[in-house]
Amino acid sequence: MKSKQPEIITDNSGQATDKRKRKVRDSFLIFGSPLIEQAEIDEVIATLRSGWISTGPRTAKFEELFAAYIGSKHALALNSCSAALHVSLLVSGVKPGDEVITSPMTFAATGNAIIHVGAKPVLVDIELPSMNINPDLIEEKITAKTKAIIPVHFAGRPCRMDRIMSIAKKHNLVVIEDAAHAIEARYNGKKIGTIGNLTCFSFYVTKNIVTGEGGMVTTDNDEFAEKIQTYALHGLSMGAWKRYSDEGFKHYEVVIPGYKYNMMDIQAAIGIHQLPRVERYLRRREEVWKRYDQAFEGLPAKIPAPPEPNTKHARHLYTLLLDKPRIDRDDFQQALYRRNIGTGIHFIALHLHPYYQQEFAYKRGDFPNAEYVSDRTISLPLSAKLSDEDVEDVIETVCTCAKEKNAR
Ligand SMILES: *Cc1c(COP(=O)(O)O)cnc(C)c1O
Repeated sequence: MKSKQPEIITDNSGQATDKRKRKVRDSFLIFGSPLIEQAEIDEVIATLRSGWISTGPRTAKFEELFAAYIGSKHALALNSCSAALHVSLLVSGVKPGDEVITSPMTFAATGNAIIHVGAKPVLVDIELPSMNINPDLIEEKITAKTKAIIPVHFAGRPCRMDRIMSIAKKHNLVVIEDAAHAIEARYNGKKIGTIGNLTCFSFYVTKNIVTGEGGMVTTDNDEFAEKIQTYALHGLSMGAWKRYSDEGFKHYEVVIPGYKYNMMDIQAAIGIHQLPRVERYLRRREEVWKRYDQAFEGLPAKIPAPPEPNTKHARHLYTLLLDKPRIDRDDFQQALYRRNIGTGIHFIALHLHPYYQQEFAYKRGDFPNAEYVSDRTISLPLSAKLSDEDVEDVIETVCTCAKEKNAR
C-alpha cells in the first residue's frame, strides 16, 4: 500500500492545526484492494518454475473448480470478462446490424463488447432501488434485429431473471449474463451462472476474487463451450496447449479468425487458491456492509436496499446515493481522497459517455433512473482485506464529510 505523508495544515500564525482537514489515516486506503495470501504467491512461483506459464494444467484445474462451484456443465477461462462478453456474443451468432439489450448502469466493457461484434447496444433503464435493468421495459425495445439480452447483476444484486428468461424465450433471444460483480449470487435458489445461456465473470483486481486480469464463461451448452475455446485461441480447431503436450504433436487448423483471449497458468495459479475462499471473503464483506449500514443511517444519503427475498446478494459494491444538491458527489469524492480514503464511481451511465452519444444519439434524459444513480453514487472500500480499523476510518471520514458544509 502506498503511504503518503500527511498534509500539514497551518493557520495564519504558522501553527499546525488539525481542525477540519486532518487526515484520519496516514496511509491511503486503496479502493478495491485485493486480499492475496501466501498460497497464491507460492503457486505463482511454482508455476514459473514448472516451465508451463501460459495456458496449461493450472488453467484446466481452475476451470474444473469453477464449474464445480457454480454448478455449470462448462467453465471456460479467458484473460478478462471483457473477452468473455465478446466471445459469448460471437458464439451466440450476434452479427453486424443486430441489436443487443443491456443496462446503462454498467461498465464500458458490456457496451463495447456489443459494438465489437458490430451490433447496437440498445439500453433499457434500470429500476430503483435495485439499480438493475427493468425487465418490464425490455419488450418495448425488442425489434426484428434484437438477438440477445445482457442483464448486469449490478453491485452483486441478481436481476429479475425469471422475467428476463421468459421474455427471452418468448422472443427467441440469447441471454448472456454479465456477472462480473456476482460470482456468489443466487436467484430463486439458482446459482448465477446456471440461469442464462452464457454467464461472464471477472477476476480483475477489484472483483470478489482475483487473478490480476482474468475472466470466465459458464454454460451448459456443449456447442457454445467448444466454439468459445476456438474463438479464444486464434480460431484454431483444438486447444493449442495440447499440441505440445506428451500426447504427441498434432497439426492445427484455422477454422475462424479468432482472438487471443486465453488465460495463463500464472493467472490460474492465483485463481485456484482464491476460489475456495470466495464464501469466506463474502462473509467478511457482509460484516463490513452491516457495519456501514448501521453507521450511515441518518446521513444525507441513501444506503443500498436490502437484498430481494429469495436472492443472495454478492456484496461487490457498497454504493451510497448522496443527497443532491446538498452534497456534490465529485466534491465529496475529492474530500474523501484528501483524507486518504479511496472510492470508486459505479457507474457514469453508459449513455452519458461521448462515444455512445455520438454514435447512437443517446442523450441525457433518456434513462432517468440511471441518471439519478449516475449523478449521486459513490462506492466505498469493500474488500475482505479491510481491517476493522480501515472500516472505522471510512465511516468516520464519510460521516465528517457528509455532515460538514464545505467538507472539501
Ligand atoms: C469489471 C467489469 C467488466 C469487465 O471485466 P474485465 O475482467 O476487467 O474485463 C464487465 N462488466 C462489469 C459490470 C464490470 O464491472
